[in-house]
Amino acid sequence: MIAPVVVTHGGAGRVGADRLDAHVAGVARAAEAGLAVLEAGGTALDAAQRAVEAMETDPLYNAGTGGSLTEAGTLELDASLMEGAFLRGGAVCCLPPFEHPVALARALLEDGRHVMLAGEGAARFAAAVGIEASTPEAMITESAKARLEGWREGRVGEGWAGGTVGAVVCDAGGHVVAATSTGGTVGKRVGRVGDTPILGAGTWADDRTGACSCTGIGEAILRFGLARTVCEGPEASAQDAARVALRAFEARVSGEGGVIFVRPDGTVGIARNTETMSHAIARAGEATVAGH
Ligand code: ASP
Repeated sequence: MIAPVVVTHGGAGRVGADRLDAHVAGVARAAEAGLAVLEAGGTALDAAQRAVEAMETDPLYNAGTGGSLTEAGTLELDASLMEGAFLRGGAVCCLPPFEHPVALARALLEDGRHVMLAGEGAARFAAAVGIEASTPEAMITESAKARLEGWREGRVGEGWAGGTVGAVVCDAGGHVVAATSTGGTVGKRVGRVGDTPILGAGTWADDRTGACSCTGIGEAILRFGLARTVCEGPEASAQDAARVALRAFEARVSGEGGVIFVRPDGTVGIARNTETMSHAIARAGEATVAGH
């Protein structure tokens, strides 16, 4: 039997020293919340969803409440989740304000008819399955507005926010799941879709290879297909697979970002080429390990 494990990240980027402790504490709480779901008999999908929801609720992260704004000052949220037994996935993109985009991705996965829905269609699907919409007033934070202002004035380089969230899970049976959620990059064009909701790019899970959630400049992650590349790495250890894939990502497409990775044997790899990427590992029977 494998000791179940939940790994979380709170986005690659450069989180300032003033917020770093809170950032790391939040991803640790989220990983522990996910592990608690597994220990209470929940599934790996339940655990990954719960971990990501905890961070979507926290305005500190660029996902759900507190997500980054488009150039028009609106919220367009992206999220996905995928499980490795049957390669089922669900994803939403350009979603108007909903408290938990990952919950909608999960509903889509369970529904099974489509893998991804965008914008208005995703909102209609939510209504059909009884998931309530939120409002811009409830979900757009002062700090998201300040980030957009900073970007407009040229103070936020590349419009890259950091603070995207993700989780990967391996249960006692070696079944893996990955989930990722984001507001995207600051000042993005209306309609821009990043890597987060794209299976193979921002999120990937396969019980034969592992589960990976990515964060970083979405355009580069999309071009490289980072999540699947990490999972399919032939390296002996999960850590080496994560590190080698990230190095290739940097070399081939000048990518910047980070990944969390779990193999079906429960071993974990974490890599980034940015200054920070808050992350935590909550493993059954062990103290949670967290860092940046
Ligand atoms: N990858 C996300 C996107 O491009 C942003 C991030 O991870 O910070 O939408």
